[in-house]
Amino acid sequence: MPIERFPHLEAKRDLREAVQALCGKFSVEYWEECDREHRFPQEFRDEFAAAGFSGVTIPEEYGGGGGTIGDMVAVLEEVAAGGGALNAASTVHIPQLCVPSLLKFGSEEQRKEFLPKIAAGELFVTFGVTEPDAGTDTTKISTRATRQGDNWIVNGTKVWNTGALQGDKIMLLARTSNPETGQRKGEGLTLFLTDLKADTIDIKAIPKIGRNAVASCEVFFRDHEISGADVVGEVGQGFYHLLHSLNGERLYIAAEVLGMGRWAIENAAQYADERVVFGRKIGMNQSVQHPLARGYLNLLAAGLVVNRAVEEYETKGGAAAGTLANASKYLASEAAFQAADDAMQVFGGYSYAREYHIGRFWTETRIQRIAPINNQMILNYISERSLGLPRSY
Ligand SMILES: Cc1cc2nc3c(=O)[nH]c(=O)nc-3n(C[C@H](O)[C@H](O)[C@H](O)COP(=O)(O)OP(=O)(O)OC[C@H]3O[C@@H](n4cnc5c(N)ncnc54)[C@H](O)[C@@H]3O)c2cc1C
Repeated sequence: MPIERFPHLEAKRDLREAVQALCGKFSVEYWEECDREHRFPQEFRDEFAAAGFSGVTIPEEYGGGGGTIGDMVAVLEEVAAGGGALNAASTVHIPQLCVPSLLKFGSEEQRKEFLPKIAAGELFVTFGVTEPDAGTDTTKISTRATRQGDNWIVNGTKVWNTGALQGDKIMLLARTSNPETGQRKGEGLTLFLTDLKADTIDIKAIPKIGRNAVASCEVFFRDHEISGADVVGEVGQGFYHLLHSLNGERLYIAAEVLGMGRWAIENAAQYADERVVFGRKIGMNQSVQHPLARGYLNLLAAGLVVNRAVEEYETKGGAAAGTLANASKYLASEAAFQAADDAMQVFGGYSYAREYHIGRFWTETRIQRIAPINNQMILNYISERSLGLPRSY
């Protein structure tokens, strides 16, 4: 669908068109095959890095493009809209998640060593926070890092670690002490950047219903040794270091679902204009047109909120953008899933045929209402911060 049809896309138009051109080299059939065969899209990752898009937000002094969060938001929306949906977007997105923490809390040695490799697409860092008994409530994690001389010994299990089969390193959140009386419940957690390929780590892919080109895994640490030099930031403050990057992540997710929603609406409208039933195009029925029109409007509105959130983030800083970043993630993920679901109806029985691809978009927009943060937690945030209601959890 031409950029003019979605006014929020005028922001960063040149960058968007460059990403669209690159994504155009990878057909929907390529992505369907990667998903069906559970094959990591290495060709895409290599080409993407070679074009210089892997380090968009990394400062130039560390080998990146020196861009803004708005640049990355534009890149991710176009990647997801290009037919690869989350298989494509996570390939780009996952290694970026450690960047804000490294930039703000990492040592200069860590920044110099890791950021240029991430920018060049040579280093794939995964994000290891969630555990079997600690998802939404991150402060309940029990993976334990125990100090031994200058090093740390880690034992525990992470789950849903996306990209672990390809990952070189994991940005790991582990418990290094229990909060003392009177301390905040997030105290005592520490961030580490450690190797994933080690004899002391076992990785097991979780069979999933979607995004199968990029595996999400259980990761078991058994007496895994980490050098003291691989602590990121302050010992005991890892949870609060991560909070620093959350609003940026909300915007990345919002952009990705917007891209997927656009793909769904665009392709459903095209199908509705071609498929003939009862001697006329199904798109002549208002009951087919209206859900698509509504989907377009919801995506348009969400896109404008994302642009406004980016503006707030860039002018006032990430912490100030909380309400708009949360609003972006909520509005975009709800709009995109509804758009994909309505598109399924338009495709009729063929929506279930993998050949028509819409099923991938339906499954993958669905997960973004749950992860990385579920939309109920966003409503909790808005209830508390915007409406002044008591904290409910
Ligand atoms: C495909 C996929 C990829 C992922 N990748 C990663 C990754 O790379 N790294 C990583 O660390 N994690 C990853 N995750 C984990 C993801 O962040 C968690 O699934 C998410 O945080 C939710 O945790 P949970 O599944 O344990 O849900 P739970 O915490 O068990 O919550 C279940 C449901 O309960 C409801 N709920 C919980 N608390 C409240 C409340 N206070 N108020 C209202 N409702 C509530 C919500 O509806 C929620 O969906 C991934 C997950 C998936 C599915």
